[in-house]
Amino acid sequence: MRRRLAAGNWKMHGLSADLDEARALARDTATARCERLICPPATLLAPMAAALAGSGVLLGGQDCHHTASGAHTGDVSAAMLADAGASHVIVGHSERRSDHGETDDQVATKAAAAHAAGLVAIICLGETEAERDRGQTLAVVSGQLAGSLPDSASAVNTVIAYEPVWAIGTGRTPTEAQIAEVHAALRGALQRLLGGEGAGIRLLYGGSVKPGNAAAIFALPEVDGALVGGASLKAADFAAIVSALDSSG
Ligand code: PEP
Repeated sequence: MRRRLAAGNWKMHGLSADLDEARALARDTATARCERLICPPATLLAPMAAALAGSGVLLGGQDCHHTASGAHTGDVSAAMLADAGASHVIVGHSERRSDHGETDDQVATKAAAAHAAGLVAIICLGETEAERDRGQTLAVVSGQLAGSLPDSASAVNTVIAYEPVWAIGTGRTPTEAQIAEVHAALRGALQRLLGGEGAGIRLLYGGSVKPGNAAAIFALPEVDGALVGGASLKAADFAAIVSALDSSG
């Protein structure tokens, strides 16, 4: 059984005052059956860990360096995230791939570093609009998956998030059939790459998930939850998505 996961990516949003949103989410989803995860900016990890202590809401970083420590000004290692209270880290988000030129190889080394530090790596992948228009979606995401998965990946330490680049922060989403097609392809690829472990790895959908479309997305086969950006910033919206996830499982 794959436990469902609602993961919130706060991106470069959030000051100390916003810890109240995290507290409200914890309070409003206290009886949730799915896993709840917030990935705040690194500056908020430690105070959020303190604010959410005992609530069951998990914490994650948004990126990590591929080495454990060293002369890398401005970077944060997976061990540092764990030390601040994180259990998860997002790697290979499309904004990292586009803003910082991260390649599949680099994403794989970051995921391996996350595993070495005892973190669950949420590996993101997804096609651009031009790639979809050219009919390359399945080839692109399968290639990203094969290139971004480290040898250390297992059902326990790895989550895959399918996030079409053109759906992130735009209010646009693929059709239900398109999401189902990609998730089925990713499940098949995971099983070919990792055998039985591949059947246990959770597959999240991400890209403009909102309270109004969450239930339809969560009803699709091979969708084990969501990676949520904008709608995770407001406790009421994220709580509604958590509730939709619980109702669908
Ligand atoms: C994301 O940041 O991963 C994301 C899916 O953003 P949004 O939900 O705002 O599209």
